[in-house]
Amino acid sequence: MADAEALLEELLGELQAEFPSFRIAKKRDSRLQRAIHVALAILTLGGQRRYLTEYHTVLFGTLWVPDAWDAASDESRYVLLRHERVHLRQRRRLGDVGMAFVYLVPYFPIFLAYGRARLEWEAYEETLRATAELHGPDALEALRPGIVRRFVGPDYGWMWPFPRRIHAWFDDAVRRIRVGSV
Ligand SMILES: [Zn+2]
Repeated sequence: MADAEALLEELLGELQAEFPSFRIAKKRDSRLQRAIHVALAILTLGGQRRYLTEYHTVLFGTLWVPDAWDAASDESRYVLLRHERVHLRQRRRLGDVGMAFVYLVPYFPIFLAYGRARLEWEAYEETLRATAELHGPDALEALRPGIVRRFVGPDYGWMWPFPRRIHAWFDDAVRRIRVGSV
């Protein structure tokens, strides 16, 4: 098993070099983040109530961390930062306006947010890749139910509520990672 503490330190260095203005801040300390929390709870009819306590969000180059960050292990911080680095790169590719457009605008209607789903597929593939690095590819299957639920459920506003499509994507991603790790 890889040394998560060393990997995390290395990754933080890489992030700082690639995105000099990158910083990590607590959601609970931000009035805007608290307002987003309330808005999401309303928009999802209470389906998403864990924005402040459990969800990580990149906004304008800052990673906003929930209460759970303090208690998180090096391993989960590492995997999470690998996921968020994808979003930082997407932001550089699309720009803030483009990213906001692709990510937020399709919240209305709240169902079927294909733009958001595409960005998250890319980022979750990195989550799987980082997990395979730490724990081996056999550990990936355990992540399937949680990830599928994120796409089809209220966490991200039912962004792509077609479980078969998500399962197919998951299978493809695991296959690509297995091929890459041989
Ligand atoms: Zn994400």
